[in-house]
Amino acid sequence: MFEIRQCTHPECGLRLPIDPALYRGAYCPRCGAPMIRVGSSYQHRQTLSELQPKRRISVLLDNLRSAYNTGAIFRTADGVGAAHLYLGGITPNPTENMAVGKTALGSELTIPWSSHPDACALAQDLQAEGFRLLVLETTPQAVPIFDVDLQCFGTDPLLLVVGNEQAGVDPGLLELCDLVLALPMVGSKASLNVAVAFGVAAYWLAFS
Ligand SMILES: [Zn+2]
Repeated sequence: MFEIRQCTHPECGLRLPIDPALYRGAYCPRCGAPMIRVGSSYQHRQTLSELQPKRRISVLLDNLRSAYNTGAIFRTADGVGAAHLYLGGITPNPTENMAVGKTALGSELTIPWSSHPDACALAQDLQAEGFRLLVLETTPQAVPIFDVDLQCFGTDPLLLVVGNEQAGVDPGLLELCDLVLALPMVGSKASLNVAVAFGVAAYWLAFS
């Protein structure tokens, strides 16, 4: 349960949530003045669970470096009801790297996952089983993700592939894949954080 506290100093007025079990929240962390409680205790709950995904995707993480990105992707994959997470190359796994669990928050215990040293060999096997490989990467042949008609894949299982934070997706996976998808970028940066990009693509593939 959380409570809202507000600083009483007229020139500060900082407002923040606290967990009273962990922190009494008597003094403002910004200016040190006393804080008062605003409103009653609360805990937000997910209430959209009746909304089911239209497609159940699987995921291949190709040589992700960061355990935090990997954990965040676990949590998002759980959110879209992904069938399986394939961890390719050096991608940290939840058994060997405790940091994955810090952002996965338990989703690593419910969503099936497996590790594979060669992501290309795995992708070939999955394609032979009928998976369509959709790689999220900015390349000249990439199609803006929101322009793709997902009906063209019929009921084929989909594998969403994201790659290393610096090097991007293995060119061998780009050669194999059925489609390269890209997210529109209108600002000064050429790409998003891999876990953020994954979240946008996974939700669009699962629910649109
Ligand atoms: Zn203050």
